Amino acid sequence: MLNEKMVKLGTESSAIRQLFEYGKQRKAEIGDDKVFDFSIGNPSVPAPESVNETIRELIEKEDSVLLHGYTSAPGDMAVRTKIANYIKETSGIEAEASNIYMTCGAAASLTVTLTAIANEGDEVILLAPFFPEYRVFAEKAGFKCVVVNCREGDFQIDIPVLEKAINKNTKAIIINSPNNPTGVVFSEETIISLAELLNRKQEELGKEIFLISDEPYRELVYGDVSVPYPANYYNNTVVCYSFSKSLSLPGERIGYIFVSPRCKDSAFVFAAVCGAGRALGFVCAPSMLQRVVAENLGKTANINVYNTNRELLYNALTEYGYTAVKPDGAFYLFVKALESDAAAFAEEAKKQELLLVPSDSFGMGGYVRISYCVSTEQIKASLPAFKKLYEEYNNG
Ligand code: PLP
Repeated sequence: MLNEKMVKLGTESSAIRQLFEYGKQRKAEIGDDKVFDFSIGNPSVPAPESVNETIRELIEKEDSVLLHGYTSAPGDMAVRTKIANYIKETSGIEAEASNIYMTCGAAASLTVTLTAIANEGDEVILLAPFFPEYRVFAEKAGFKCVVVNCREGDFQIDIPVLEKAINKNTKAIIINSPNNPTGVVFSEETIISLAELLNRKQEELGKEIFLISDEPYRELVYGDVSVPYPANYYNNTVVCYSFSKSLSLPGERIGYIFVSPRCKDSAFVFAAVCGAGRALGFVCAPSMLQRVVAENLGKTANINVYNTNRELLYNALTEYGYTAVKPDGAFYLFVKALESDAAAFAEEAKKQELLLVPSDSFGMGGYVRISYCVSTEQIKASLPAFKKLYEEYNNG
């Protein structure tokens, strides 16, 4: 007898993956340039050249056995020290190597963190719309997921609604800013109110509530927007970071967990993170990539393309009549579907060869997500199809 839950997860791929696969098939049928595939969040710009340079240098100059060997389970000490110093410089928090645990990207950061803190009966709050895998990771770790909708209109956290969802079983809340799927950056006001609420609830309930800050898009922001660092506002914060999007390295699987030294019993939380990584069989994060990212902290791939795409798409779609919040970060635009059933709308869009992800799997109905990490040519070529789709719904 197999684990039925796993069979289900393995046979029903996510709505995003299904659409991505459909896109590949459709492109083979009618040609790559005829299908406007906005399904998946795969960076479309290359990693910075300095990443390739570091790889070349490491391969040429380092001892090959060491370079490709196991590191200690939480990661290479010199790498962890560099990351801790970087966090200290950029946030002011007294981070040390002993607060940093290297991982295989944000997905691993999240599964390890959730597994580290879950006990029977615990609840984790997900803010909808959310990255669909949160539910998969949290349930496997043993959590019950409680979904709280963000404010419609600006997709900031709805503090009064969140307050009602917090109870004696609440162990953690996951936040993600810049956000997938909305592109929204939580304002400083939002983060301050969140911290104030969590502190008050911790007092009232006499227990710790963890803030898990999932930050794969931290550096992907446009204009002069700054992203508040939640660990600066709330002590019991665990940061789940990834280099997948910032350095365009999603297939290399590299990121880290930062257990803030301000967490209550921070050393124990870190020990639980190490234990969860061990129990999940991660062994250590890819050793050469650890070295690579440590030399490229704070750098990003050239995100100008994303910004150009964002402006083009947002301006054109809102001019046609669509409703969307202008994204400040990440590479997603969350657009109101033109009928209440987002899946039906996405099917209609397919007839124009537009592949848009219906929002239901993000925990909220009525929208579609457009991943604009594609070529600017694709954005331009897709605009007449968006216009036609809008007219279809609005001109009878
Ligand atoms: N969290 C969010 C919000 C994401 O959008 C993604 C990937 O798209 C992940 C986590 C997983 O990222 P990684 O590739 O680093 O595992």
